[in-house]
Amino acid sequence: MVSSETGPYSDRTIADGIWRYDFRTGGPGGDNAKLIAAYELKVPMMLFRKLRPNVYQALYPVFVTSVDRNAGYVTIAIEDLRDVGDHTPSAIEKRYASIIAKRRIHQPAFRAMVLRAYETRCTVCRFGHAELLDAAHITADSESHGDAEVTNGMSMCKIHHAAYDQNFLGISPDLVIHVNRELLAERDGPMLRHGLQEMHGQSITVPKAKNEQPHRDRLAARFEAFSAR
Ligand SMILES: [Zn+2]
Repeated sequence: MVSSETGPYSDRTIADGIWRYDFRTGGPGGDNAKLIAAYELKVPMMLFRKLRPNVYQALYPVFVTSVDRNAGYVTIAIEDLRDVGDHTPSAIEKRYASIIAKRRIHQPAFRAMVLRAYETRCTVCRFGHAELLDAAHITADSESHGDAEVTNGMSMCKIHHAAYDQNFLGISPDLVIHVNRELLAERDGPMLRHGLQEMHGQSITVPKAKNEQPHRDRLAARFEAFSAR
């Protein structure tokens, strides 16, 4: 299944993580029959969410949670929302769905989008192993649902992400790395010296595409918090 506003199915979101797909024209045969069979046999399916042109997020498993033959549509939900997707969800269930979807759909999508934009390297030190990289938020993500913007993220290794979150390390809007004054004055082993102190005054490496670079206003807001520490 491909989920896209411009795709072959007319789909819409019932709750975060639960979608309605109208039957394709041509009656109950073909793809519609496959969806109905998937519902009856309870077989898992894979859903491709379109994040941007040519970039999809694969969601697996998803299930057909209801079929309305008369109105001509099915509902599809991620596994954790099967019990919500088989009926019209209440307001409370919709809130629950958005919490689950944030963890299962939006956070992984944000991480994938940010790591891809930064070519799977830490923006501070260029460390390049995905297992030890995070998508760090620049400012707190206030969106309760929806995919966080790449421009509010930076790919960082675990140590630099933690240092950034704790304001040991700041990034000014002109993309320069600043290390906390007290930390700069400290004397310790190679992690402090090479991993942090030597980063001071260097520039971060950002994606080439302008629309994927960190948002300057967000950097400025965040840098104020670092400077006030
Ligand atoms: Zn790093």
